[in-house]
Amino acid sequence: MAHYIDVIIPLPLERLFAYRVTTAEADFLQPGMRVAVPFGKSKIYTGIVHNIHQTAPLNYEVKDIELIIDERPTVTADQLKFWEWIASYYVCSIGQVMRAALPKSLLLESETVVIRNNETDIDESLLDDKQFLIIEALEHRQVLKVQEVMEILDRKTVLPILQKMLEQEWIILQEEVYSTYKAKTVKYIFLNNQYKDEERLKELLDEMTRAPKQRETVMSLFMLQTGNKLVSSKQLQERSGVSRAVIKALIDKEVFIEEEQAVDRVLDEKAKGHKLTVLQPAQQTALDEIRSGFAQNKPTLLHGVTSSGKTEIYVRLILEQLELGNQVLYLLPEIALTTQLITRLKHYFKHQVLVYHSKYNLNERLEVWNHVIEAKEPYVIIGARSACLLPFQNLNLIIVDEEHETSFKQFDPDPRYHARDAAVVLGHMKKAQILLGSATPSLESYYNTTIGKYHLVELKKRYGEVLMPEIQIVDIKDKHKRKKMKGHFSDTLIEEMQRAFKEGNQVILFQNRRGYAPILECNTCGSAPQCPNCDVSLTYHQYKKQLRCHYCGYSTFIPPECPSCTSTALDTKGFGTQQIEEEFKELFPDHKIARMDLDSTRGKNSVQKIIEEMDTGAIHCLVGTQMLTKGLDFRNVSLVGVLSADSMLNFPDFRAHERCFHLLTQVSGRAGRTEQRGKVLIQSYNPEHQILQQVSTYNYTGMFKEQLQERYHFKYPPYQRLIRLTFKQRDYNTTLQAGQWFVNALNQIEHGVEVLGPEFPPVARVRNLYQVHVIVKMGKHHHPNMIKDYIRKVKRSFESIKTFRSVRCNVDVDCY
Ligand code: ADP
Ligand code: ZN
Ligand code: ZN
Repeated sequence: MAHYIDVIIPLPLERLFAYRVTTAEADFLQPGMRVAVPFGKSKIYTGIVHNIHQTAPLNYEVKDIELIIDERPTVTADQLKFWEWIASYYVCSIGQVMRAALPKSLLLESETVVIRNNETDIDESLLDDKQFLIIEALEHRQVLKVQEVMEILDRKTVLPILQKMLEQEWIILQEEVYSTYKAKTVKYIFLNNQYKDEERLKELLDEMTRAPKQRETVMSLFMLQTGNKLVSSKQLQERSGVSRAVIKALIDKEVFIEEEQAVDRVLDEKAKGHKLTVLQPAQQTALDEIRSGFAQNKPTLLHGVTSSGKTEIYVRLILEQLELGNQVLYLLPEIALTTQLITRLKHYFKHQVLVYHSKYNLNERLEVWNHVIEAKEPYVIIGARSACLLPFQNLNLIIVDEEHETSFKQFDPDPRYHARDAAVVLGHMKKAQILLGSATPSLESYYNTTIGKYHLVELKKRYGEVLMPEIQIVDIKDKHKRKKMKGHFSDTLIEEMQRAFKEGNQVILFQNRRGYAPILECNTCGSAPQCPNCDVSLTYHQYKKQLRCHYCGYSTFIPPECPSCTSTALDTKGFGTQQIEEEFKELFPDHKIARMDLDSTRGKNSVQKIIEEMDTGAIHCLVGTQMLTKGLDFRNVSLVGVLSADSMLNFPDFRAHERCFHLLTQVSGRAGRTEQRGKVLIQSYNPEHQILQQVSTYNYTGMFKEQLQERYHFKYPPYQRLIRLTFKQRDYNTTLQAGQWFVNALNQIEHGVEVLGPEFPPVARVRNLYQVHVIVKMGKHHHPNMIKDYIRKVKRSFESIKTFRSVRCNVDVDCY
């Protein structure tokens, strides 16, 4: 009897592919193990065994697998089920989910490119013949595709060899180069065994009377080593106050033995947990109510104002699960994953905290993956979006903090999933408790509490009787008229800033835009330099004296004259964080300002550095974009200034007002987190705007009710579901035709849903590709699965049409 396995291949394929295996292999293999398989003409991919069976596929010729990579499953059965749900709900392939989930070093394929890791010295005597050949080839050629490694070694089974070499950090994947990686090792010092004998030791110390520093160092090692503790060279230097040279001399004399040991990068040293804070009565009540929500098996939404002590409540719940030996998933938006929070959690849970972060390199991510699947200890896994795709064991609690954050949604590429929504489904699958938390819940989640789907818990006061900051709206139309503006600062804002600085406090300024000014405009002809690849004006960056495109990254120097009419009267319109920084320096030359936006925080530790400077008081003012709103906790900020609320209000999107409310409330929450009441000034040309009024009176429910009515009226979520199809191509007409064809095809099916478009979005061309949107709107009475099946079917026929072969078509479910 022949044996087959169905394999998930990390490509956008609609189905699994069967491969032939021997009886022995079939006996050995389990679902979730990785195998290397040939696919297409000559490619090799890492695939995952989905199931093992004996039915030969009918319509294609079966190939053999190349080899089995794993000794035990890399992916759990539950994970496969969850991935299948994501693929089905978000209309993509399970292979694409696999690609998003697996750390790349688990996903080697013939096109993967490896390079020599220059950060590690390789002891060539440790290399076997094959490894040696690879390293040697890399010396000559710098980069090698896996395919080429196969040719060099003249064998197809190279993936395990390369994986081993990756783990040793002899080689790295080319795409990793940017994250210059330092292997973390510590040098430990031991006393040579012969001196364990007391007599010998005494002799040694006597001999050393003429080398007092060495003697002192040996004594210090003794002191430090009590209770068999490992002593690092660094500790020993500090303790004995000697230089490394002294220790080196003792090593050379063979009095000391030095051993370099790798420190596990993910797990910190074990230590006992810290004492918990005592919850305040309001927090305790909230905690009890959360438990009662869990008891009803309902996802629970914790709506707690900024600084109400939500995190302290999470800590209780996490502790409870860790003590039961369970895993906990703690999801956060990427930029809220600051060391501030991680340190706080490590303070309680020490080495039981695992962090899964895109700024971490592959080996670190691989280590987390392995810890989670092996589950030798209970862990709380903190991470952004993709952390929900990990191989959990005994997952019993999922916390989604800042659940209103739009960055939980992946917009590109597939799977275009929403991590909060996916986490709720994961929680149901695993029968885990689910807690969503926010100071400004998303309309959808709050709505779910009103229809009984979620359980609502509220925490309306800040911790420690600290008052919510006073929010004042400043009418800058009026200020301009009365000449009370200096640049973009009103006299009110300047006065409040002066007062804050005088009292020794710090200020946060919020401007929802990067760069210096969004555009450079010609005062003569009114034209603005455009990106050659996209339909947008370029943004002016003063710091680098550049014009940049925020859509594609294109940059150019500032032209001396207008490209259209050659006038030299070029002027900047609008303003961004950089311009505010400049104006601040003019207004407050004696105070230090730092900037926090995507441009100023590219490096791995740059956000960390800014946070530290704020904490130590090295800077007085922080200006930034919405990055500022993400869970930062500064003790001394008494004033928050919003330079202009207007661009947020006028954004063309059905969520613009809701988002504006979230942003302003969140950024206001950065003020006055300790005893003194904080103050917030919001400058606007529309001081009477409903949303600003609701923000300034902390009227969340008012905002909720009003927005919900609009959603109902204009048929938007949560009343209707939206699926957006995007078509992209270089040619304007082809793109439009593709959208039209799809609309027609969808309309031919009897389904009763609304199909809108094709329509060009506000920025119709990005990176030289035109794009059109088609929106499918369905009511609660429609069967989304049926509609999605239609869409898949139509997409399949679309892809077989010759004219549209070069048109890319994306499906984005819940595209908001
Ligand atoms: P949130 O997550 O709601 O913004 P946090 O949990 O960060 O609020 O709490 C705000 C501040 O109050 C933090 O500095 C935290 O350490 C402190 N805090 C909260 N609850 C307690 C408590 N029960 N005892 C002592 N300090 C607390
Ligand atoms: Zn001009
Ligand atoms: Zn561009």
